[in-house]
Amino acid sequence: MTPDDLTPPAAPTTTDPIHDAVKRVWGYDELRPLQEAAIRAGVEGRDCLTVLPTGGGKSLCYQVPPLVTGRATVVISPLIALMRDQVRGLELSGYQAAALHSDVDWADAKNIEERLVTGGEDGLDLVLAAPERALTPGFCTLIGRLAQSGRLGAIAIDEAHCISQWGHDFRPEYRQLAELRRIAGGAGIGVQAFTATATPRVREDIANQLGLIEPEVLVGVFDRPNLTYRVRARRDAAEQGAEAIRAMHAKGEGGGAIVYCLSRKDTEKLAAELVSMRIDAEAYHAGLSPKKRHDVEQRFTNETLDVVVATVAFGMGIDRSNVRLVIHATMPKSVEAYQQETGRAGRDGLPAECLLLYSPSDGSRWSRLIERSGAESGADPGATRAQLELVEQMRRLASSMRCRHAQLSEHFGQAYEKDDCGACDVCLGETRAEADSVKIAQILMSGVARTGERYGAGHVADVVRGAQTEPVTSRGHDRLSVFGLLNDRTRRELMSLLDQLVAAEALVVGEHRVLLFGPRGVGVMRGEDEVALAVPLGTRSTRRERGRTRAAADANARPLTPDEKELFERLRGLRREIAEERGVPPYVVFSDATLREMCRERPTSRESMLEVKGVGRSKLEAFGSQFLEAIADAPAP
Ligand code: ADP
Ligand code: ZN
Repeated sequence: MTPDDLTPPAAPTTTDPIHDAVKRVWGYDELRPLQEAAIRAGVEGRDCLTVLPTGGGKSLCYQVPPLVTGRATVVISPLIALMRDQVRGLELSGYQAAALHSDVDWADAKNIEERLVTGGEDGLDLVLAAPERALTPGFCTLIGRLAQSGRLGAIAIDEAHCISQWGHDFRPEYRQLAELRRIAGGAGIGVQAFTATATPRVREDIANQLGLIEPEVLVGVFDRPNLTYRVRARRDAAEQGAEAIRAMHAKGEGGGAIVYCLSRKDTEKLAAELVSMRIDAEAYHAGLSPKKRHDVEQRFTNETLDVVVATVAFGMGIDRSNVRLVIHATMPKSVEAYQQETGRAGRDGLPAECLLLYSPSDGSRWSRLIERSGAESGADPGATRAQLELVEQMRRLASSMRCRHAQLSEHFGQAYEKDDCGACDVCLGETRAEADSVKIAQILMSGVARTGERYGAGHVADVVRGAQTEPVTSRGHDRLSVFGLLNDRTRRELMSLLDQLVAAEALVVGEHRVLLFGPRGVGVMRGEDEVALAVPLGTRSTRRERGRTRAAADANARPLTPDEKELFERLRGLRREIAEERGVPPYVVFSDATLREMCRERPTSRESMLEVKGVGRSKLEAFGSQFLEAIADAPAP
């Protein structure tokens, strides 16, 4: 019997190594449901495909296994800006990580590789690599070496939907990542694929293309209950956008807003309009100088700038967890893109708003762009068709009057259980069903039929509202029986109703934007097939006052009291100072959710500070006392 056996056993621990690591490093008491399964797959070296919405906590899934197995994870990720922040955030939590991408010079790269291979005291737990880096022969050799020496625990592929042409962000070079799977396969190393957006079809494609072996497929709940979705008819993007931004500012809880536009020119125009309305906003797009872009990204991330008007180029590299508002000044090109872009709001789990300013012309604008770029780039016609279909799905979502949460969930293959989400314009009663849907639909369908299925929506609208325009009178359309039957409606309303008929497949849009009868056309015109038409978007009169959204019912989401708000401001100030000092974005220090919890709980000791979600050991050591002091100094509530 060795002396060791005589020492009393250590106090029994009830937690397992995974939970221990998560509590110690990140300060989280619990894992989200699928995180645990994904982490176990990583630890046990099984292949796995994890689909979690943005903000769902994917990073933790590949960050934890090395802490348990002592073997490193290599993560392939296309987002260089995010890599940098992730590495800094991990380092603050006492976790050894590094990034390999085009900005890393040869000597640094060598050093990183060395630390990966040797392990030990200075060894790395995690290396993030850009895909182009991952495909170099040198990198493949490194993976082989790591795999052979038993230093490699897992390979993680982030943004895995980029591998599929059915995804919204297809990158052909991703296809070559299957090579890594092959190299690691011989050593029994698991590959974990992660994505935020994948329909069942894309999911299958990812598993096939990457060559995953009997992968465990973990699909998270797609619904983001803390987001309120609204679709409004676009009257004036600047006016409507400014109104939403002012409402956000008026709450006085800080937070950022992103306004997405379709073109570079649109972003500059809209940003200038907002500035002229005294809103501090900057444009952002890929045509700006790298310096300017970097400057806007930095200021937005460190919260000295709150409003960015951007093309989709913005966001991939931005990680600000307290984005409270995402506005789409134009409809995005797919439901996936919509989900991903709106997903940048409320990543801290607190309530946030998503406003889509929609016009029926948005769909055709996308179709034209896609057709043109398809023709110019000589893309596979199948890929172009796939993209046009994605636009059509988005159009349907925008112009339909079903619960937005339900539509989004269903798009990602998930049933939505609730009848009333309490967090979308439809369920909040801000849109309203047309009392006379059947009759109105019949009149509009007749308008299309009587004019011979040869005109666009504008002309049909003019006929049924009784407008004596030149094209109407010169063709004798003012003598049709449908002329003026809907003369109490505006042209804009009628355009929206026609668009809803397109969404319902009663009409289809043909060449030159001509409206034609669709599969349900005849049935609808005869009144045999019913379509539910919504009162066109943008009418506010029906707004029902609702208490709170589901997220707001959560204690952590209750608004701060004035005292708490004051403390919150102080803590944010402190966070900004620390962030500046360390050259990291503020959220890397603590998230807004963590600061809010501090304001409510007002911890007075290190122990109680550790109870706050988001405070781990290492951050407690690094800044716990500063925050405790700031809390102690604040006037008692
Ligand atoms: P994704 O990569 O899926 O978009 P992230 O990994 O960035 O999401 O996580 C989103 C946010 O959720 C981060 O602020 C993260 O710290 C937080 N988070 C992740 N897992 C947990 C957890 N188990 N408990 C509390 N917060 C978590
Ligand atoms: Zn709803």
